[in-house]
Parts: sequence; structure tokens; C-alpha cells
Amino acid sequence: MKARVLSGMQPSGNLHIGNYLGALKNWVRIQYDYECIFCIVDLHAVTVYQPPEQLRAKILEIAALYLAAGVDPKHSSVMVQSAVPAHAELAWMLTCVTPVGWLERMTQYKAKTAAQESIGDGLLQYPVLMAADILLYQAAIVPVGEDQSQHLELTRDIAQRFNSLYGETFTVPSGSLPAVGARVMGLDDPEVKMSKSAPGAGHAVALLDEPAVIRKKILRATTDSSPAVEFATAGPGVLNLLGIYQAFSGWDNAQMEGHFTGMRYGDLKKQVAEIVVSQLEPFQRRYREIVSDPGYVTGVLREGAARVTPIAHSTVELVKRHMGLYTES
Ligand code: ATP
Ligand code: MG
Repeated sequence: MKARVLSGMQPSGNLHIGNYLGALKNWVRIQYDYECIFCIVDLHAVTVYQPPEQLRAKILEIAALYLAAGVDPKHSSVMVQSAVPAHAELAWMLTCVTPVGWLERMTQYKAKTAAQESIGDGLLQYPVLMAADILLYQAAIVPVGEDQSQHLELTRDIAQRFNSLYGETFTVPSGSLPAVGARVMGLDDPEVKMSKSAPGAGHAVALLDEPAVIRKKILRATTDSSPAVEFATAGPGVLNLLGIYQAFSGWDNAQMEGHFTGMRYGDLKKQVAEIVVSQLEPFQRRYREIVSDPGYVTGVLREGAARVTPIAHSTVELVKRHMGLYTES
């Protein structure tokens, strides 16, 4: 039996090259080696307000982007989190074994709530729901970007705590980070990670940006005061551009250094822009083909939810039995 993989993205904005290089690209690479479930985590997105019509549209857009990237729905299950109610049900059971202190320590919670006066409880509970997404399917491997490592560690802690309280119930999952591209930084501010929900027109290259927009954003990216690439002393903006190039090209470090050492930043930016444009072009063409058939994506999602529901159901039954909650079996 193949090990099970679970990963997901929030339909909270436009998917960007960080989401692609940190996660999506690797899903496609490993999908035939594992039994994969790729989720659109809409219950996570509503931890911050989403205009309802926009959210509905984004869910389908993100599903189509998974498919355009090469996720094969005949082989992998593509599904929406809220279509399988057991995600929320298991989240409650896990909430009851999770100390609040563990959640308050999460870096993302601190970052996302720093500027807010009134903090939605969903932002605090988010990692418990993420743990439920993973543990519900007894997933062994979770391919994510580096920003999710802390949440994955928490998932492992919750699984272990549950198993020691109630007996062996959950597979304790491992993370899987890409060697390059695990943390793509904002083009406008290379000190913060590129995020869907960050403001700023020049922050992220979206997967559906037009070539002219991609070029403009990359040519305006923040670098530093040196004129040309020196690997030993490069600042975070230059390292970010080089990292993006390396992740798209698949070059090793020696090839990167041979090609880029001494190159002026203007030329570096042009080359980064061209590789991003050329790699996103076929991807965008596939996306347009996929969405031209209106029933196709909803059909894939229906089939994906139907395929994973029995797994979710059997985990919830097991958890109920172990906790002493009411079951008929
Ligand atoms: P949001 O701002 O709404 O949280 P996000 O850009 O952080 O959006 P998520 O939906 O939270 O995206 O994450 C989807 C996947 O993309 C996760 O596996 C996450 O680790 C990965 N990811 C997100 N941002 C980056 C990034 N800048 N570099 C690499 N991987 C990333
Ligand atoms: Mg995020």
C-alpha cells in the first residue's frame, strides 16, 4: 500500500509562485508515488473575512489551478474541505486535547493578529483544524512550504498527545519541504514571505498574472545597493530572485554561481522574469482550457469528496470509540 499524502491551499486570494514552488509543484512531482489528497481548505480561509461571492469563485479557481499544474484527478483526490464535514467534527475532538498555550505560541497566529483589536477565535484554532485535515486521513506525509513547519510540528504533538491519552489512533505525519523554493519572499519586501493575503501590487507574482505584469513586478523587485550579483554577500532581495530562478530552472548551485556571478541586477531581473513567464505560459493555457468546460471542475470535486469520505468516516468512528463518544457499532 502506498503512503498517504495530504496538502491544501486556502482560497483566500490569488495563488502565487511561492505557493507553486513551495507546495504545488511538489504535489505534482510525487503524486504517482503516493496516494494523494489535495484539498481546497475553505474553512481555513474564513478565519479572516472573505466576501462570499469571491470565496465561492476562488474555490473553483484554485481547484482549476491544481489541475492546470498537473494534478491528475484520476489518480489523486481533489476535494473541498467543507464538502467533508468530518474535518470540522474531528477538529472539535482535537481541540479538546490541545492546550491553549500551544496555540498562542504559533508564529502565524502572532503575525496575523498583531495589528488587530478584535481577534477571531478561528485564527487561534486554525492549526487544530489543520491537524484535523491531516489526521482525518491518517496521512503520513505533508508537503508544505517552510511557513507551515511549525503547524505541522503542532499536528504531530496533537496526534501524539491523543494517542497517549486514548490509545493508538492517529498516524503521526512527517513534513516534506522542497530543497529550493520552500520560502519565497515578497518582491516588495524580501524580509517577509510572499503571501496571498498580503497587500501591495508588487508583492507577489500570481500564477494567472499576464506576462507584462509579471515582468513589471520582477523588474521592480527590491534588491540592495550593490550593482551586481555576489553570492557571498547578496542581500535577501537578490537571494530571493536567485532562489526563484533556481527553483524554476532546476539548476544546481554550481550552475547558478557560474551563470549569475557578476551579473548586473537589471540583467538578473530580466532573466528571472523570462523564466517565470515561460514556465507559467503553458500552465496558464491549460488553466484556460480547464475552465472553458464549466462542469468539469465541479465534477472532479464531487468525485474527490466521494472518494475520501469513507476514509474520513472510518477515522471519526475510531476516534469516537476511543474517546467513549456515542457510536452504534
Ligand atoms: P495566506 O496569506 O492566505 O495565508 P499563503 O500565501 O500563506 O496565503 P496558504 O494557503 O496559507 O498560502 O498556503 C498554501 C501552501 O503554500 C502551504 O503549503 C504553504 O506552506 C505554501 N506557501 C505559502 N507561502 C509560501 C511562500 N512564500 N513560499 C513557499 N511556500 C509557501
Ligand atoms: Mg498562509
